[in-house]
Amino acid sequence: MRVRFAPSPTGMFHVGSARTSLFNWAFAKQRGGAFVLRIEDTDASRNRPEWTEGIISAMAWLGMDRSGYEGPVFQSANTDKHEAAAGQLIAKGLAYYCACTREQVVARTGDEHKGYDGFCRDLGLGQGAGRALRFRTADEGSTVVTDLIRGTIPFDNAAIDDFTLTRANGSVLFLLANVVDDIDQRITHVIRGEEHLSNVPKQQMIWEALGYETPVWAHLPVLVNDKRQKLSKRRDKVALEAYRDEGYLAEAMRNYLMLLGWAPAGDREILPWPVLVEEFRLDQVNLSPAFFDVKKMRAINGDYIRALPAEEFIARSTPWLSSPGAPWRPEAFSAEVYAAVAPLAQTRVGVMSEIVPSVDFLFLDEPAEDEASWTKTMTGQAAVTAAGMLDSVAGSFAGIPWQADSIRTAVEDAGARFDLKLGKAQAPVRVAVTGRTTGLPLFESLEVLGRKRTMERITAARARI
Ligand SMILES: [Zn+2]
Repeated sequence: MRVRFAPSPTGMFHVGSARTSLFNWAFAKQRGGAFVLRIEDTDASRNRPEWTEGIISAMAWLGMDRSGYEGPVFQSANTDKHEAAAGQLIAKGLAYYCACTREQVVARTGDEHKGYDGFCRDLGLGQGAGRALRFRTADEGSTVVTDLIRGTIPFDNAAIDDFTLTRANGSVLFLLANVVDDIDQRITHVIRGEEHLSNVPKQQMIWEALGYETPVWAHLPVLVNDKRQKLSKRRDKVALEAYRDEGYLAEAMRNYLMLLGWAPAGDREILPWPVLVEEFRLDQVNLSPAFFDVKKMRAINGDYIRALPAEEFIARSTPWLSSPGAPWRPEAFSAEVYAAVAPLAQTRVGVMSEIVPSVDFLFLDEPAEDEASWTKTMTGQAAVTAAGMLDSVAGSFAGIPWQADSIRTAVEDAGARFDLKLGKAQAPVRVAVTGRTTGLPLFESLEVLGRKRTMERITAARARI
């Protein structure tokens, strides 16, 4: 068996495309079949070589290595075959040239919602400027589509107009080029998004008209956002690259994408890639729209992050802590200092980029400025307590062993004087030292930061209140 993934280059890799490619991949690999990457690049106006490279690298990131598939093959390189197929359909009397404009068709039918009326069917027009090629659809009977996911769907032939195969300028349209390429690449299973379902009866007619047995169709459910709207690149974050850059792990991302429309048996969700490939069942893919749930994806990513061995977590998170993305001077970063807090960060972040704000207090010259945190903790009614807390710990911090447990005791004791529980007591200390109300466990953080820098920041914050 042979499958294909056939994206149009658009400048980014849509998460829906990523899901389609993974489903094709899993299906092919578990059956020892071939996977073809075909770039549908015939729309030359919106097509650049680097976009193809983007697709290849995004696939490689997800684990679909170039050595594991055929291609990329380019649709634009197959133009001769597309045109030859058009010629065959004309020769068989199954396609004809049409000279009508849309306005003329509407003038005849009197209904702008109606399709083509077949006016040129038997005029015997030859090829010429402004003439599109149309497929002559059957007037009676039905075209029965069998879809592995959707079952058997009959389409009434009379409801399918004579559709266009080539544009008026002679260029071959998607419906024909896509079928000719599938035939040429001996594709046996067409697995793609639901948005193509309406193309199937027409494409099936072309397959049969060219004398081939149709492939197995499988149309995957559409991806929707939390409002049940189809994902849109204007409204939703759909670029796989954006999630990659935010610090999603490839293995978490592909695990999550495999769950969009399919579920492994039992309550299992987090599974190693080879198991996902082995257990995936195309015919068990769900019909209903699949919710692209970023919160859930993030939770799964967090689980993957926590499961990393400590050393690997450090190795894989460190790129986020280097220039140019990191907000501190490059020489201020210390791998040793980071290693001391990395285990604290590992249990708390959902994506790798969140590590930067959780450890920046160690590498910035001054703590980060977060106005909301300062206002909440250090101003208004909170100001008196905050000042008292900072004065108190400034005194006690000078003389204690600089270890998390002694620091904790000092903060607890100071809090007791103001009748504050530990959580409230540590807030002004945290904001003074890290700039924020939330972050890594405070006392361990202060131990790593060191007594000198901690006390400098407490003094500076106290002066600001
Ligand atoms: Zn016509």
